[in-house]
Amino acid sequence: MAGFAEVARDVYVLRYPVLDVSVTLVLGDGEALLVDTLSTDAQARELAAAVRAVTPYPWTIVNTHHHFDHCFGNAVLAADGRPVWGHEEAAALLSQRPEALRRQWYEQWVPTHPELATGLAEVRVVPPDRTVHRTTTLDLAGRTVLLRHLGRGHTAGDLVVQVPDADLLVAGDLVEQSGPPSFEDSYPIEWPETLAGLLHLAGPESVVVPGHGTVVGRDFVADQHAELAALAWLIRDGDADRAPVEAVAAKAPFGGETALTAVRRGYAELAGRA
Ligand SMILES: [Zn+2]
Repeated sequence: MAGFAEVARDVYVLRYPVLDVSVTLVLGDGEALLVDTLSTDAQARELAAAVRAVTPYPWTIVNTHHHFDHCFGNAVLAADGRPVWGHEEAAALLSQRPEALRRQWYEQWVPTHPELATGLAEVRVVPPDRTVHRTTTLDLAGRTVLLRHLGRGHTAGDLVVQVPDADLLVAGDLVEQSGPPSFEDSYPIEWPETLAGLLHLAGPESVVVPGHGTVVGRDFVADQHAELAALAWLIRDGDADRAPVEAVAAKAPFGGETALTAVRRGYAELAGRA
């Protein structure tokens, strides 16, 4: 595993090869903030060693959302009682049905990633114990970091981590660079508005850390926003015309199963079933 690389002043990003997940480490003067914790106990132990190669500071954890690749390392990384922040919806999803989520993800990944799936089955799910409703400001030993819920998008409980003095935003899976956005638990109709909120926070020189892939700038986010906005209108039109999911997906800016899932979720969202 490659270690952390500095992407802005005292902000480091690690790209973990399995699923190409981004983990962000923000350093204050004597304290650290670790954004996302990877998928399994073994991955989390690797991550802890990578953090220790950068800093001896104690860390506070943030989960950008409830998906396993961003929070299933909590049990290992918060083992000594370190606080774990997340959006209240993410905390609720992980608290209410940890067994169901673990089984669902195990079954999803066992055909293609058996080692990952086995690791998921062994995880003790630790939900965030500090929750964000809209905005929470953290004082990281003199460095201000904001945890912001800008609305629903990739999930019901996405958080964006803003480090104003580094002009940096951690987007979680609201933005993906190494693949198309992921729609399984998404709100495709609301997602564009949420990304518009992120664009509002980003300046021309901002560094944006996506949930998967390499760091990007404001232009990349603007392009993804345009695609998601086009998709949302296609879904609205399809819903109004009672068009079949497949017909709408064929016109979507994303291909294959991604588009089908997006349209299904969009229809459910418009019907109040998402
Ligand atoms: Zn996700």
